[in-house]
Amino acid sequence: MISNKYRTHTCGGLNKSNVGATVTLSGWVHRKRDHGSLLFVDLRDNYGITQCVFDLTDATVAGIDKIRPESVITVGGRVVARDASAINGKIPTGEIEVKASDYKVLSEADVLPFQVFGEEDVSEDLRLKHRYLDLRRERMHGKILFRNRVIRAMRDKMWELGFSEFQTPILGATSPEGARDFIVPSRLHHGMVYALPQSPQQWKQMTQISGFDRYFQIAPCMRDEDLRSDRMLEFYQLDLEMSFVEQRDVQEVCEAVVVSLIKQFSDAARLHPEIPQIPYDDAMLKYGSDKPDLRNPIIISDVTEIFRNSDFGVFANAIRDGAVVRAVPAPKSVDKPRSWFDKVEGFAKDELGLAGLGYIVFAEDGPKGPVAKKLTPEQIAAIRVAAGADAGDSVFFVCAAPDIAAKAAGKLRTRFGEELGLVNPDEFRLCWVIDFPFFEPDPESPTGIAFGHNPFCRLLDDSHELDLSEPLKLKASQYDFVLNGQEIGGGSLRNYNPENMLKLFAATGYGEDIVKQKFGGLYTAFQYGAPPHGGLAMGIERIVCILLGEENLREVTMFPTNQRGQDLMMGSPNTPFEQQLRDVHIQFRKKN
Ligand code: ASP
Repeated sequence: MISNKYRTHTCGGLNKSNVGATVTLSGWVHRKRDHGSLLFVDLRDNYGITQCVFDLTDATVAGIDKIRPESVITVGGRVVARDASAINGKIPTGEIEVKASDYKVLSEADVLPFQVFGEEDVSEDLRLKHRYLDLRRERMHGKILFRNRVIRAMRDKMWELGFSEFQTPILGATSPEGARDFIVPSRLHHGMVYALPQSPQQWKQMTQISGFDRYFQIAPCMRDEDLRSDRMLEFYQLDLEMSFVEQRDVQEVCEAVVVSLIKQFSDAARLHPEIPQIPYDDAMLKYGSDKPDLRNPIIISDVTEIFRNSDFGVFANAIRDGAVVRAVPAPKSVDKPRSWFDKVEGFAKDELGLAGLGYIVFAEDGPKGPVAKKLTPEQIAAIRVAAGADAGDSVFFVCAAPDIAAKAAGKLRTRFGEELGLVNPDEFRLCWVIDFPFFEPDPESPTGIAFGHNPFCRLLDDSHELDLSEPLKLKASQYDFVLNGQEIGGGSLRNYNPENMLKLFAATGYGEDIVKQKFGGLYTAFQYGAPPHGGLAMGIERIVCILLGEENLREVTMFPTNQRGQDLMMGSPNTPFEQQLRDVHIQFRKKN
């Protein structure tokens, strides 16, 4: 700690061993307490809080009682031991106080829009407008410093694993990750734009083609998406890429990073030891989600065949038209009142867009409910086995087109897991979701299909010549890393064959000219010796949130925009000066 005119110690640095020393401290007036002729000022800086005592009868400290909270002052004085009754065991400086002999105001604070001291509830917009005050508050300050430590630990781990850190351009060409680009008009090149990176995807592939083997970056990513609490316009990824690797090699690196973070910043005992690999089709069937929360023990099953020729006409007819039936058990719900079942049905209609739900209650004295009346004992028994239901459970049925049924069943599973208290909030459950479809149907694409993830992925099976006769059946070497039902990372092995690149893009309706224009850099680089490579990126804010048990990504972001994408503190976005627009040859259209 340097000693200068502002301070000899920090506000967290003094303890009993300093008693008798003459010190100088600087910081913010955290809190004042007036005890007649004595004024107690808690002085705060980044490192802690020190209690300073001013004797108001002493002329050299005159005026201190008028100072407003959050003013910045320098205090000179002597360290004294506190009386036994005044010791504060909660803070490191709690055994001492500073008897102030003089002070100086460095910067006076006006009346505050909200208090820094205490836990006052303040609207998010007001907090963001004065983020510097919000960040002074103990909890926010702590969260940002926590994030800082997590990032340092990520870096250390990556270095330990033999990765090198590289910086890639911010002004670049588009690199689609399924969102809209932010574009920056060029002054020098009339009518042209740069795109801010949605991720450094193409650049990191270039690092591999450049021979660097193991790349990582704490990378800013910008995506012009609709905002929610779990999405921000810009965020950071731990981005990595490796050469001469198979899927498992990349996964092992990611597991090493995340497991070490959990050990370091949480509790290793909370981590479930298994990290299963779940094929996408299985995930959609059993969990109704491509990011399953494995803390929830409920498993969905397909019971279409049992209903196909049953007397339950609504389902049997729908199945004839292509619907499937998924069974979602609600363990130990037999004693729930009728209103509980009605609420579940209401949820299915209002939130899941289903016409209704059927259910069977497996009561002690036999199966109950309207569906059960239409089924034979054998059919009911088969359902019970398929759903793994015990006496006391009920089983709900979702009947709809396969993708709708899967997602709706997944949401019911989540609801039951939470409502019936089946999810252990203290547990960390990791898994990989693998074998994603390479393409997905897309009514807006000229060919009716689009890339399922990003266009840089390799086919899962690339051992023989590319066959695009049934594109929707092809699987990608894409793998997503999931923690407690949240996608914390995603990546793939990359296609590095230029001919396949053209064919795969053509399948989604992009001609050779567009590929060469938009992705010409990679396409050309692939002609000059590209190593097989793959990688992944993990969302840093999301990981920090999970480690802190926090839900809103803005809570772990120092200067986020609000939910409308505005920075209320700095005032962005804002109207450019006319000259700025002229410089980049831009004129705004009228809003229609
Ligand atoms: N660029 C991808 C993303 O941002 C990650 C990857 O495939 O490495 O999701």
